[in-house]
Amino acid sequence: MLLDASMPGPRNDLDAWWMPFTANRAFKQAPRMLAGAEGMHYRSADGRRILDGIAGLWCCNAGHNRAPITAAIRDQAGRLDYAPPFQFGHAGAFALASRLGALAPADLDNVFFCNSGSEAADTALKIALAYRHTRGEGGRTRFVGRERGYHGVGFGGIAVGGLANNRKVFGPGLPGVDHLPHTYDRARQAFTKGEPDWGAHLADDLERIVALHDASTLCAVIVEPMAGSTGVLPPPKGYLQRLRALCDRHGLLLIFDEVITGFGRLGHAFAAERYGVVPDMITFAKGVTSGTVPLGGVIVRKDIYATLMQGPAEAVELFHGYTYSGHPLACAAGLATLDLYRDEGLFERARALEPVFAEAVMSLRAIPEVLDIRTVGLAAGIDLAPLQGGGSRAYAAMVAAFRDQDLVLRAAGDTIALSPPLIASEAELADLAERTARGIRAVGEKI
Ligand code: PMP
Repeated sequence: MLLDASMPGPRNDLDAWWMPFTANRAFKQAPRMLAGAEGMHYRSADGRRILDGIAGLWCCNAGHNRAPITAAIRDQAGRLDYAPPFQFGHAGAFALASRLGALAPADLDNVFFCNSGSEAADTALKIALAYRHTRGEGGRTRFVGRERGYHGVGFGGIAVGGLANNRKVFGPGLPGVDHLPHTYDRARQAFTKGEPDWGAHLADDLERIVALHDASTLCAVIVEPMAGSTGVLPPPKGYLQRLRALCDRHGLLLIFDEVITGFGRLGHAFAAERYGVVPDMITFAKGVTSGTVPLGGVIVRKDIYATLMQGPAEAVELFHGYTYSGHPLACAAGLATLDLYRDEGLFERARALEPVFAEAVMSLRAIPEVLDIRTVGLAAGIDLAPLQGGGSRAYAAMVAAFRDQDLVLRAAGDTIALSPPLIASEAELADLAERTARGIRAVGEKI
C-alpha cells in the first residue's frame, strides 16, 4: 500500500510506524490516511472531505491550517529555529509566558514550558514536590488523583490518572497515590446540559484520604475540571469549590489539568474562570497552539515560583526541563494562536454556541442506542448501548460507521466524544449532530 500518490514507498512503509493507542494490525489492514486539512475538515488520501468533530484530538480549537498561525511558524523557522533553553532565552518564550500568565486567573503568573500534556502533568507534580521540599515539608509527598482522570502517559500521569488500562502492565509506578471517586452517576445525572446538580459532596471523599494518611503526608490534588477524554464528565455544581475549600483546610495544593478545558473549550480561556475556582497550578497543552506545534506547560501561582527562587542566585532552582522547553516554533505558534483566539473572539463564540450545540446534540437522545448525553461548552459525551462492554469488535464497527459518515470523533470506552473546532458555524454543528446520529444508527445495525 502506497502511503500517498505523492509519497511512493515500499509496501512495508506501513509497518515502520508503531502507532500510539492504536490497534496497529487492524489499522494497517485498512489504513485511514489523511492528506490535508482546512478549517472544519480534513481531506483524506483518497480525496474524501471529512468533518472534524473532535478538533484533531481536542486541540485544533481554531480549526485547521489557519493562515496567521502557519505564517508565524514559517516566519519563525526562517529566523531562529532553535534556542537552547538552559542557556539562552528568546523573546517569543517570554512573550508567550506573559500572555498565558495574563490569561490565567488571579496570581497564576509564572509559566514552565514543556512539549505535551503528559509532560505538563509530570512537571506539575514535580514542581509541587520541589515546593514542599523547599518549604521544609519534605514529608508531603503523596498525591491525590481521581478515578476516570486522565493526565497523560508519563509515570506520574498514569499514577494519578484513574484508568486501569493505562497502568496495569507498567509496573509499580509512582507510590503514594490515592484517588477520589469520579463524579458521574447516570441514574442521577442522565441527559444533563452543563454541570449536574447532583454530586458536589463527592469532593468530601478527600476527608477520607486525609484521615487515612494525615495531611502532613499529602502534597497535592490533581483533577481535570471537566474530565474530557474519559467521557466528558462536567463537574457537579459546587464540586470544585468544595474541593478547593478542602485543599485549603488541609494545606494541599490544587492542580487543574486544563489540557482539554483550556483555550475556549468551555467558553473561557480556562475552566478555572468558568467555575470561579482558582487552583494553585494549571497544566495546559493542545489548544495553546491549536494543535499545530507540540507545546505544553504549567502555570503556577507566583508565590510558588518565588518560594523556589529563594536559594543562591547562581544556583539552578529546579533540576527539571526539556531540550525543547519554550521551543521558538512552538512559542511563535502559541502567540499567533492566542492572537487569533482574541481577534476572532473564539472563546466568546464558544460560549454563545454552547446552547446551540447542546440542543443539537441532545436531539440524539431519541435514538434507542443512546444511553446518556452530557454537554458542556463545545464538548459532548454520548454513551452508546452497543459499546457497553462490547470490546474491540464493537469499537471496530463504530470506527467503520463514523468513517462511512466522513466524520472524525473520538471513542473512549463506552462513550463517543465530540469537541468541534470553535470556529464551527451553527450549520456545521447541526451537520455534526446529523452525521453522529447516522453513525450511531449504523453502529447499532452493525453489532
Ligand atoms: N491531560 C489531559 C486532561 C488530557 O486530555 C491529555 C490528552 N488527551 C493529556 C493530559 C496528555 O496530553 P498529551 O497527549 O499531549 O501528552
